Amino acid sequence: MTVVPGRDPLVIRDLTFLGGMAAPGGWRPAPGLPEVAFAGRSNVGKSSLLNRLVRRKAFARVSRTPGRTREINFFQVNDQLVFADLPGYGYARVAHEQREAWRPLIEGYLRASVPLQGVVQLLDVRREASDDDRLMLEFLGDLGVPTIVVVTKVDKLNTRDGTQRVAELSRSLGFTDDQVISFSAVTGSGRDELAEAIVSLIAQPSWREEG
Ligand code: GDP
Repeated sequence: MTVVPGRDPLVIRDLTFLGGMAAPGGWRPAPGLPEVAFAGRSNVGKSSLLNRLVRRKAFARVSRTPGRTREINFFQVNDQLVFADLPGYGYARVAHEQREAWRPLIEGYLRASVPLQGVVQLLDVRREASDDDRLMLEFLGDLGVPTIVVVTKVDKLNTRDGTQRVAELSRSLGFTDDQVISFSAVTGSGRDELAEAIVSLIAQPSWREEG
């Protein structure tokens, strides 16, 4: 992906919290703008990535307030697009039934949301993909929704080990290296590349109309 130095592919002028979807088929913002959803297990670095992406320190905090952590939280960016922050899944310390509780809400949203243009799937550079990550990626693949894979926290490894880990992780999941963006919320690396990928995603014809 080409990023022109010094040019921000996604300038954030305006950011508005629209509300949350608490149950499958429940409230969601009226369709209008293209939507991009963010998915990943709890603690993968999703809030930190969103804050970096929009250049606000505490933007994603609303998604973490009590009562909202299990909702899909919608944010409007400029008059351009909507971000859907999906609940973090796979929290290891809860019972199996609770662990599976995310599936109807997330899968229902992904299946039914007409404005959805794509999904940004996050994976932690220092962890193997979990069963939930694999389930999620399989679901996205079956649905056919365009998916951007982002490997988070790459600053935790040196450049050489980081590059190697990203390549291993990508290969183990059937992606080529160039389909995957390396990201660090600490250094900001990958931010513009991700912004560019999102802007291209929303400019595409809807995947639902293909074939
Ligand atoms: P979420 O549960 O997916 O929203 O994850 P958070 O954004 O809250 O991050 C979980 C933990 O990982 C926090 O302690 C963050 O400070 C840390 N973290 C998130 N992103 C990065 C990163 O890019 N680099 C490093 N070193 N730590 C990160």
